[in-house]
This record gives sequence, structure tokens and C-alpha cells, in this order.
Amino acid sequence: MTGETHLKVGVCLGAITLNPTILVWSMAGSLLPDIDHPSTSINKYFSFASTFNFHHRGLAHSFIVATIISLLVYAFFGAYAAIGMLIGYTSHIITDCFTPKGVAILAPITSQKVHLGAITTGSAAESVFVMFVTLLSVAYFGYTQNWPIAAIWSAASLVACILASTNIKKYYLLSTFILCLIILTT
Ligand SMILES: [Zn+2]
Repeated sequence: MTGETHLKVGVCLGAITLNPTILVWSMAGSLLPDIDHPSTSINKYFSFASTFNFHHRGLAHSFIVATIISLLVYAFFGAYAAIGMLIGYTSHIITDCFTPKGVAILAPITSQKVHLGAITTGSAAESVFVMFVTLLSVAYFGYTQNWPIAAIWSAASLVACILASTNIKKYYLLSTFILCLIILTT
């Protein structure tokens, strides 16, 4: 999956908590596991990571590492930050389980890979997957919040989905910004 997909899933899951701290840390956590991939933007910022010669989707894509990193975040930044990191990081691992390669979610204890689907990176199926996750978060939001706010949220999310599927990235970012504003004002 692309970094953009991971970020969108991180936004959807972080946003439904209605907590800005969790949202921001979920966005960061959703990108962090691909630090082991040489061509990702997060790796360019933390290029020292390549010197450890990680296998892509190895240790960095393990629930065990996700837990350790979240505990470290808890120690330095508190509970909300740790919850956000855990949500974002685990959402990345689970999302990558939908790719043909799968993920060894319990590395280094076992190298057994989990496959939940066969969505190739950059495919149309990936856009549909993002839309599905976004609509799930909208449905959850509508179920737990009052309906006028849920209606605004749904409309903004649908616009985000449509624009995201047409790859107009700046409009997706704008829609995400509007979603964040809604969260902050509820
Ligand atoms: Zn990944």
C-alpha cells in the first residue's frame, strides 16, 4: 500500500476518537512502519534507518514492535499520544496484510505471514479499500454522534473519498483539514 493510503486510514481511525492528540499521533504512527522501505518519504527523513539493513515488512511491521514503540511514546508523551501511535501503527500493519505479500505480524517470534487480501499497491482496489475504511469511520461517527454533525462529517468524508479516488491530492488534504476542523469544533 502507498504511504498516502496508510495516512488516510490513520486519519479515519484517529478522527473517530474526536481527540486531536490521538489524531495527530495516529497519522504519525500510520507512516512509521515503512521507515524500513528505502523509497518511502519517511525513510528519506530518517535515512539512518537504512544503515540497519532492515528487511521491508520485517521487524518494523510487527505488533510486538508497535507495542514497544507505543510504550516508549507513553513514557515520553503520555497516554493520548501512545493510544494514537498504537492505532496508527497497528492500522498500517493490518492494512499491509491486505497485500499479496502479507505481513509477519508477530516477528521475531514467528515468521508466519498473515494474508487478508490481494490488493496490489497503487491499484484501483486500493482506492476502493480506502473508500471502504472512510465510509466505515463515517458510519461509526454517525452511530455515536448526533445526526446533524454526522451529516456534515459524512458529506465532507464522501467529498474526500471522491476527490481521493481521482487523485487530486491537494483537495484530499483540504478535505482532511475540514474534517479536522469539524473534530476540533465538536
Ligand atoms: Zn508497510
